[in-house]
Amino acid sequence: MAKVVKFGGSSLADANQFRKVAEIIRSDKKRRYVVPSAPGKRFSDDIKVTDMLYNCYDRVGEGKNATAEFLPIAERFDGIISDLGLTLSLDAEYEKIIENFKKRAGRDYAASRGEYLNSIILANYLGFQFVDAAKCIFFTADGEFDADLTDACLSAVLSGYSEAVVPGFYGAKPDGTIQTFSRGGSDFTGSVVAKAINAEIYENWTDVSGFLAADPRIVDDPEIIDYITYKELRELSYMGASVLHQDAIFPVRAANIPINIRNTNVPSDPGTMIVPEAPDKEGGRVITGIAGKKHFSVISIEKDEMNSEIGFLRRILTVLDHEGMSFEHIPTGIDTMSLVVSTEELEKHPGTVEYIKEITHPNHIEVINNLALVAVVGRSMKEKRGTATRIFAALSHANINIKMIDQGSSELNIIVGIDEADFEKAIKVIYDMFMLSEI
Ligand code: ASP
Repeated sequence: MAKVVKFGGSSLADANQFRKVAEIIRSDKKRRYVVPSAPGKRFSDDIKVTDMLYNCYDRVGEGKNATAEFLPIAERFDGIISDLGLTLSLDAEYEKIIENFKKRAGRDYAASRGEYLNSIILANYLGFQFVDAAKCIFFTADGEFDADLTDACLSAVLSGYSEAVVPGFYGAKPDGTIQTFSRGGSDFTGSVVAKAINAEIYENWTDVSGFLAADPRIVDDPEIIDYITYKELRELSYMGASVLHQDAIFPVRAANIPINIRNTNVPSDPGTMIVPEAPDKEGGRVITGIAGKKHFSVISIEKDEMNSEIGFLRRILTVLDHEGMSFEHIPTGIDTMSLVVSTEELEKHPGTVEYIKEITHPNHIEVINNLALVAVVGRSMKEKRGTATRIFAALSHANINIKMIDQGSSELNIIVGIDEADFEKAIKVIYDMFMLSEI
């Protein structure tokens, strides 16, 4: 069995980081398939190579000298090569890229060269085979990721090499045009490679020691989650928590392969395991994590005897369907219904409220803005008593008014809607209630 290891941009930002990466790979013989990102920031004001490439490509399009514009990018790669003491030269690659920039090969092509060049260097340094993603990761002619073709081709190609480096972030369309995934997409490539070789684990090496139980900008030094299920991760990611690219769980999830988030700078930390099923939290903990987002609006609808009007909800949903608008929650009362939508969505569809009014003839309809949603997520809350009570007690002690409550039937999360002004305080007090007490 093999492990797939993906390293993010900060893990490969300079030669020193490359050395750490090589040590991690060499310390476990199973770490045989490697997916690198492009070099990221070395310090906070630094520029990621991916961004340098986008800018360079745009400037060449404005008529600037391509060779001169590309020079700082070549210098970054050459710096890594010489600091590592490699004899490799990428000059011929640079020339080809500059030519293709002049021929306007596309912004995706431009951005992808960061992963491409970095992978050539890493493969050379490790003594692994370089496998160009353009030869085995595919998109359809209309730009959709082609999962089946990719899976078949990748597993066939990689079965020919006991060790390989596959650049993250991009693939090719049937005509050979390079296309990238969305930003941060090397995570997705790692997942696709893990599925293709049926890896025992997909290790995603980054610069944090795992997935945090709350946003560190709000909670001081939040705990690192040891185990999280795919479902919990989806809930938390959807509500704004981020470490992994949002699509990265899908390929491995289909194959039941766990993901382990690890820290390149502290490789002894066990990190976070993302798994299909996990045991209840140790020590009686109920909550896995807390996340939230601001900028939601409630369309509040009141109508006498709404409860007995068959098809009322269907008519409202028809409006949303027609507008192409998604919604978050629909808490209902007997004669009231609240449609929670993102404020941004509502602004994009300004006629929605009028349309609902026309179609449902309510007694009263209004839009309430500045709502924040906080999701308290935990597989262990199922069948445990008192979780909601504790959330409400924490909020009530902090004098925070709850405007909406939603608990899915899966009992995986409880979502509360509060005023945006209370957002940070709410997350802090809920965190304290569940994470700082013994149970
Ligand atoms: N280098 C790309 C980006 O900066 C992809 C990645 O790092 O995953 O978004």
